[in-house]
Amino acid sequence: MGARTGAPAGLGMDSAAVRSRMVARIRREGVTCEPVLCAFAQVPRHLFVDSALATQAYEDTSLPIGWEQTISKPSVVARMLALLFDTPHARQRGDGRLGRVLEIGTGCGYQAALLSLMSTRVISVERLRPLHERARENLAAIGVPHVRLVFGDGRVGHAPNAPYDVIVSAAGGDALPDAWLEQLAVGGRLVAPMHDASTGGQVLMVVDRQADGYRRTVHDAVHFVPLKSGTV
Ligand code: SAH
Repeated sequence: MGARTGAPAGLGMDSAAVRSRMVARIRREGVTCEPVLCAFAQVPRHLFVDSALATQAYEDTSLPIGWEQTISKPSVVARMLALLFDTPHARQRGDGRLGRVLEIGTGCGYQAALLSLMSTRVISVERLRPLHERARENLAAIGVPHVRLVFGDGRVGHAPNAPYDVIVSAAGGDALPDAWLEQLAVGGRLVAPMHDASTGGQVLMVVDRQADGYRRTVHDAVHFVPLKSGTV
């Protein structure tokens, strides 16, 4: 991985301009949730990828981050984050914040940085130690507040800080782990990619926990890396 200091070649002195073009594109594609757009405008995505890929950092594409994993495509991340705000609970808070968040799949830490700007606390779990450490460096370099990175198998969630107002997974499995459902607060929302038996592909699954049970709805077709077991 290359050096991360200075302005990346091709991005000019100020990456804010390229970022605002990315935000305008995300808005045109239908995401109008202000806290989400505002976070995308602030977090320097080019600092989360290898310097050789920095010129592509603001294109709407997923990019390799090593260890066969990818930083997700901005429009898909924006869509997921906007879904998190689209609940009575989040609207009631009315402060543009999501409360306590559990993220599964820290990867390079980009989405954790976005989440930190729109929540009161973020716990992010990663099963690959090199990526867990890379994310720690990335987040320290830009000074991200109230994010706690946990090395472990996110399929068990993270019980010590439960319950969570939001659970969001960046990796997709065949079924939702019971631990996620148990650790979701009443009024909370979970968004995760999940295998869709009818198409053989993946869809975004949304689960709302209500006082009397769980309500599931299926959203867009997506393509995330697999949710794997154990740690490496
Ligand atoms: N949110 C990340 C996306 C990373 S890709 C970003 O912004 O870069 C998804 C990540 O999920 C990968 O790093 C992968 O290692 C991780 N992952 C897969 N299964 C997991 C599990 N059971 N527990 C924790 N992390 C997992």
